Amino acid sequence: AEMTHGYTGADLAALAKEAAMAALRKAMNRGMINVELDVIPQEVLNKLKVGMSDFQEAMKYVHPTVLREVIIEVPEVRWDDIGGYETIKQELREIVEWPMKYKHYFDELGVEPPKGILLFGPPGVGKTLFAKAVATESGANFIAVRGPELLSKWVGESEKAIREVFKRARMAAPCVIFFDEIDSIAPARGSRLGDSGVTDRMVNQLLAEMDGIGTLKNVVVMAATNRPDILDPALLRPGRFDRVIYVPPPDLKARVEILKVHTKRIKLGDDVNLEELAKRTEGYTGADLAAVVREAAMLALRETIKERSVKAKPVSAKHFEEALKRIPPSLTPEDIRRYEEMAKRVRRAI
Ligand code: ADP
Repeated sequence: AEMTHGYTGADLAALAKEAAMAALRKAMNRGMINVELDVIPQEVLNKLKVGMSDFQEAMKYVHPTVLREVIIEVPEVRWDDIGGYETIKQELREIVEWPMKYKHYFDELGVEPPKGILLFGPPGVGKTLFAKAVATESGANFIAVRGPELLSKWVGESEKAIREVFKRARMAAPCVIFFDEIDSIAPARGSRLGDSGVTDRMVNQLLAEMDGIGTLKNVVVMAATNRPDILDPALLRPGRFDRVIYVPPPDLKARVEILKVHTKRIKLGDDVNLEELAKRTEGYTGADLAAVVREAAMLALRETIKERSVKAKPVSAKHFEEALKRIPPSLTPEDIRRYEEMAKRVRRAI
């Protein structure tokens, strides 16, 4: 019973059945049951004992309904895998990595790090990468929860799901919880018609969980959104997501660095000039730039294979030229202006 916290009645029934099956399989493997028989005689079944190890075996297959989607990852993203954004990296190091790594200094000095960190900015600028890097570099586990999934997969159980996420994180501590697209589960309370009851309850649960973890803790809550303006303002109050970081589209310098990260293991032709490429990719996000490199590499690979070249052909300027044509920037100058405006408003609001 202790091991099955979070299992529903149906889950427990399935677990018992699976454990019995495990015991049966074991008995068959040991030759205690004649596998040629269509029906296993009752007296043999009566002698079958379902042990603790059978339950343990069954737990590998039967997971509690609510926890099924909460996957604990050991992330592998390092600061060096993120091109550019040096100021943001440094800030995250100080406010999350340090409190986790050097908890004792913070305790001793009575310094309180922020409780939750909200990253906002357009899609594809590396918000998820930042959260993963924070976890990797502080030696923490990582739980990513996508807002829309939480709503759709746990219909009617969404608050329970939030509770479980936090419980799991405490069990896996030190741990970084990352709520992606948090606006979908935490829009301003009462602002949405129809299902607002669900999101209201989720916001309340999220706030309660965040209030419940002390500041000097080894569970860090991070979240990302591209719509900070529609978030419930209660989330931004002290003790909740009290640090808001704007991740803008990459500027020229960041684009050079991102291109460097993604071409690190690629054989480039002598005619490839990453600075030049960066100049021509205004409006491209990190994700777009990664796609351009991938596309250029595929074009070179196709050529190599088609020509049955003995050695792989390097990825050259013409491949990048073609890749740029195929992959347009995902942000227009108007989008970028809109994000800058939003950043100003959010800064004023907190
Ligand atoms: P977001 O969470 O902001 O939508 P992601 O972190 O999921 O964006 O980024 C998507 C992909 O784009 C990453 O896996 C990575 O390949 C690439 N990428 C985005 N930003 C960067 C960056 N600054 N440096 C290197 N790669 C990046």
